[in-house]
Amino acid sequence: MHFKSDNRIDEADRKHLRSFASSAGQHIHELAMRLGLRIDEEELPDDVSAVLIKSPNCGSKSGFRIVVNARQSFERRRLSVAHEIAHYVLHRNEPDFVPVEDCEDYGEVVPFLPLRGNSYRSTDTRGQNRRLELEANAFATCLLMPEHLIRKNASYRVGQIRTLARDFQVSFDAMRRRVEEIHNNGQAKGSLSGRAAQHQAA
Ligand SMILES: [Zn+2]
Repeated sequence: MHFKSDNRIDEADRKHLRSFASSAGQHIHELAMRLGLRIDEEELPDDVSAVLIKSPNCGSKSGFRIVVNARQSFERRRLSVAHEIAHYVLHRNEPDFVPVEDCEDYGEVVPFLPLRGNSYRSTDTRGQNRRLELEANAFATCLLMPEHLIRKNASYRVGQIRTLARDFQVSFDAMRRRVEEIHNNGQAKGSLSGRAAQHQAA
């Protein structure tokens, strides 16, 4: 898992991430706050799930805040926050990463946003941001659906995937993809072969 070994992550941050990933369905907003981030839920355009904003005056310990689209589902918002947390813990010190910056008069409106340069939309998986976006997606997946917890319970019956999705507070589709991904990773060990394919075909 990225956050257990990645040396870009501060030790203090890593401790919070590991604690979050130690059991299912923990509150992602609380994790963000422990990491020193502020979270605001706002109505954003449909194609924007969330954005990480450098905002030295927003009152957060880190000087960053995450704005998440209040119009999207609870499960989608969790995933979006996890994705922006990934940008914060992994990418904020990378030269390639230029976070969106708050406007001077923060406090009135969400700064949305003529997209400036390398702003980071959760939906942006093309171009020069692709590597960072894919990495943030992988990180979010590992954070919300840790392999060691999923594998413990994994089954490829639809009802059990639904139960896992509920326990981990993610969408059914996200959990199905995660279970299949873990299954495929473990296939070399000969575990559970065939059942994922059956499910896919169903
Ligand atoms: Zn992103």
